[in-house]
This record gives sequence, C-alpha cells and structure tokens, in this order.
Amino acid sequence: MKNKPWYRMWPEMIRQVAGACPRMFVLEYFWSVVNGLALAATPIVLEQIFRIILESETERFPFAALAGWMLALLAVYLTSEASAGFSEYYGDIYSEISAKALYGNVNKKAGRLAAIEYEKPELLNRLEKAYPGAFRTRKAVHVIMDILTLYLPYFILYGIYLYHAHPVLPPMLVLIFLPILGSQLLKGKLYARLEDKTAVLRRQKQYYAACMSDKEYAKETRIHGLRGFFRERYRKAVQLFNRYTIETGKKAFKIDMGASLLNMLGLLGMIALLLWLVLKRQIALASFVAVLTSVRTAYDQMEEIVQQRVGALSVSLALSRNYTGFLAEEEEERSVLHRAELDTVSVQNVSFVYPDGTQALRGVTFTAERGDRVAVVGENGSGKTTLAKLLTGIYAPSAGSVSGGASAGMMELRKGSSHLFQHFNQYRMTAAENIGLSDCELKDPERMKWAMETAGFAREETEEIHLETMLGREFGGTELSGGQWQKLAIARAIYRRADLLVLDEPTAAIDPEQESGLYHAFEKCAEGKLCFLITHRLGLVKICNRILVMREGQVLDIGSHAELMQRCAYYRSLWEAQAGQYGLW
Ligand code: ADP
Repeated sequence: MKNKPWYRMWPEMIRQVAGACPRMFVLEYFWSVVNGLALAATPIVLEQIFRIILESETERFPFAALAGWMLALLAVYLTSEASAGFSEYYGDIYSEISAKALYGNVNKKAGRLAAIEYEKPELLNRLEKAYPGAFRTRKAVHVIMDILTLYLPYFILYGIYLYHAHPVLPPMLVLIFLPILGSQLLKGKLYARLEDKTAVLRRQKQYYAACMSDKEYAKETRIHGLRGFFRERYRKAVQLFNRYTIETGKKAFKIDMGASLLNMLGLLGMIALLLWLVLKRQIALASFVAVLTSVRTAYDQMEEIVQQRVGALSVSLALSRNYTGFLAEEEEERSVLHRAELDTVSVQNVSFVYPDGTQALRGVTFTAERGDRVAVVGENGSGKTTLAKLLTGIYAPSAGSVSGGASAGMMELRKGSSHLFQHFNQYRMTAAENIGLSDCELKDPERMKWAMETAGFAREETEEIHLETMLGREFGGTELSGGQWQKLAIARAIYRRADLLVLDEPTAAIDPEQESGLYHAFEKCAEGKLCFLITHRLGLVKICNRILVMREGQVLDIGSHAELMQRCAYYRSLWEAQAGQYGLW
C-alpha cells in the first residue's frame, strides 16, 4: 500500500477507521450532513426575508409571511448549531475509539513480523512512525468524511443558489481559493520530508534521555560519570531536531502568507463584481444583499476546508502512509500448530548474515537427537547465540536449512522448543507468572514448583519466594539477586513442554562457586530431551555427551571431551585456559 496513489488508499483507510465502531461513525457524519444543509439554507431563507423587506409596499406589508420566514431562519440556525454540536461530540468520542483500534492494529502487526526484522534499524523507524501514522489516518479520514458530508452538501446547495443569483458567481468563488489549495499541497510535502528527517532524531532523544535517567543505565552512568556525555548527545539531537522543525515552520509560514494575500485580493474582486452586477441590474437587490452577507460564510467554509482541512489532509495523508505501509509489511508465516514433537535437529550447511551484513555463521552442519546433551563452546563472537536462535526457529538461515526432522520446519522448531535467552527478561509480576509465561495454557503450580527446584532454587529460597510472591521493586515486590533472576529464567525455560531445550549461557549471572551445584540440575532438566547448552564456561561440558566447538562462525569440530582433547588443539587451548577453575577432568 506504500506506493499506492492517495485516491486508492481511501477505501482501505475508511474501512479501517469506520470498522472501529460503524454505528457511531455513521452517527457522527449524519449530523455533519444536517449541519451542511442547514448552513446552505441560511442565505436562501435570508433572501426571502430581504425580498419581503425591500420589495413590499408599505401599505400592504406581508407581516405574516415575514414572521413565517423569520421562524424558518430561527429553525435553520438552531438546526445548524445543534447538528454541529452533535457531530463534534461524536467526533471526539470516535477519535478515542479509532485511535485505540488503529494502535491495536500496529501492535498486532508488530507481533506478526519475523524476529530478524527487529535487527533492522529501518524497521524500528517504520514501527515508530506507524503510531503517529495511525493517528493521522483517523485525521485524514475525518477530513475526507467532513468534506463529503459537511462541505459537499453545503457547497452543492449554496452553489445552486449562487448559480440562480448569477451563473458567474460559483466559478468566481472557486477561483478565489485556488492559491490556498496549492499552498496546502506544498506544505504537505514539506512536513512529510520533515517527518522523514526527524524520526531517527526523535528516537535518539528518547534513547539519550533514557541513558541519563532509566534504572537500567543509572548505575553505569553514575559510576563512569557519563551524564555529561549523554547530555551532550541529547543536546545535539534536540538541536538538530529543533533546527529542522523551525526551518520547515518558516517555509510553511511564507507559503501561507503568499496564498492568503492572493486570496484576499480575490475576495475584494468578487465584491466589486457583485456591485457591478447590481448596478447593471443583472441581479435583484435582495439577492445582492443575501449573497453579500453569505459570501463571508462561504469564504470561511472554504478557508476552513483549504487551510485547516486540506492542509491537515495533505500532512495526514503523507503521514498515514507510515501506518498503511507498516500494515503492508511482509509477515512471517503463521502456523496454528501449538506444539510440535522434535526427535532430531538437523543443521545442513547453514550460513547466517545479519541485516547489517555481518556474517555470523558459515557452512554449519551437524545433527543431534533426543537424549543428546550438546555443549556449544567457543570464544565471544564465534556465533553461539546466533546458532541458538536458528535452532529454536527465531531466525531463518540465510542459506542452508535447519529442521526438526522430515517435516518440521522453522515454525515447528519454534513451537517444539524452549529457549533460555542470554539476555532474558525480568518480568515485574509474580513468580508464578514469571514462570508460566513460557506455556500459558498449562497453568500447573506443581510443575512450576518442580521447575523452580530443578532450576536450582534452594529450599531456604523457596520458603521466601513463593509462587505468588510479587517480584521486582517497581510494584512493591521482592527484588531478586542477579543469580535468582537467572534461575527463575531457567525455571521458565524448563516449565514449557518442549522436546528441544536451548540454554544460552545459563550460568552467566551465577557465581562460579554456585555454578557446579547447578550441573546436576541441568542434567535433570535435559532428561528425555534434546538439550543444547551454550556456554563459554567449560565446566558445563562435564554433563554433556557431545561438544560442538565453534570458531569464527564455523563448526571447528564435534565430539566428546576426550576425543576433542586428543584431536582438537583449539579446544585443548580453550580448556587449558580455564582448567584451573574446574579442576582436573
Ligand atoms: P557468541 O554468542 O558466540 O558471542 P554471536 O552469535 O552473538 O556470538 O555473534 C556472532 C557474530 O555476529 C559476531 O560477529 C557479532 O558481532 C555478530 N552479531 C551478533 N548479533 C548481531 C546483530 N544483532 N547485528 C549484527 N551483528 C551481530
């Protein structure tokens, strides 16, 4: 939808906005139609009143007819005011309803994109722009609906009236407003360009502000005295953001002033034309007075359309493409499968390249079966975490294939596996919720307790941290140590019913002295499953029957500890560098 011309975007945009609550949508614009017709009826009724006053003879003055038209005028005024009020009332409510629905669409869409998309800065840009885009979509639809339901009925009726007064008047009225229309189109382009230039800067501002004030960054920022550094970065981003905004504002102001000037000259010309027509007796005096009094309203209406509505429309339309375009992003394949059985994992000639061009894996080939405990070892940056994400179907390989047996592809891998991420989340929720999130359908407190125990929580710890204990200080809960959060993340990973378990650096936040106590726990976790343990702490290889040695994105060797010690010099050097920590094998 991104490159569709604007007129082809409308049906979808209206469908999205009206779909939020069709009944209220219809009500809002029904009152707009009433308002438009009532506004246009005003000069028609006024002309009748002027006609009676200007053309009746004093001795036989038609008081009853005048009273009747005066009442009609009152009714028209009241209808116009009331319908405008109703339409505004429903419009305000509808803005809230539709914003909720459209933001919801962005959220749903974001959840349907492939995980690798989030590694692309352009996607983060587009996601950020999609929210204001959603808001602008409602605005754009509101403008177009107002034009169709308020202004169009008004101008059709008023145009017919003017044409009857004199055929030259309607085209004259249209001509007057052309400069303003052109100026608004120009401004729309200016603001779309501004949005493109400032989206990154806005994210930078938020990010540097977070670096100065968020809890996550507070410790490092203080200890390293980084406040000044981040403040400077923040200041630069704000400065550039403001510069672009002000520059655009200045240009827009100049365009507006030029158009208004031309417009005023046109209006004066129309009044002169009216005077000339009345002097030439080409229009009746009553029509002259009615047109003269109503042309101001028509002028205001047109100015409102052109300056506020069309102006907002061209900006909104440009920005709503960020919403419609985002909704049209390619989605990841969906599967209705909830769980999949995986007895083997087969990695064939896999390469993986990140969107920024970094080649993280090349030519990786191996297979593993249920019952295998595979340690994946190697230095930082050797591709272990990337491999973990491919094994659990989070990322798709750039070349080659990862499958869980004959028919199990990426989605089945995802559904049939559980993954402890190196950078796991700490949910500010109860312990039970923290654990249960990995398998929401299960809701099994006994399994949760088993998971906590198996993940290494000692009896004294579980006496203090119950399933119902609220965790994290944010909502008045108990704060856990880094190691406890890690054990909770392990519990979450093993709570999930899955045949394939991938634990990425499961002891990273755990003290080395406590680490060996967890080995037995990991053995229990891995029972009956296919388990990958990704680690750069070689102590863990003790509980694994196979070890995959990674170096610079490739599998250097695969075998048992004894085999590798014999034939793989690189593995031996890794092991010897850490041997002191783990004692003799
Ligand atoms: P390990 O887990 O062994 O430390 P990783 O799989 O994290 O290794 O990284 C492998 C390579 O991929 C490294 O060169 C790393 O810099 C790169 N890399 C990791 N994540 C990203 C990313 N999101 N974008 C670009 N490159 C990445």
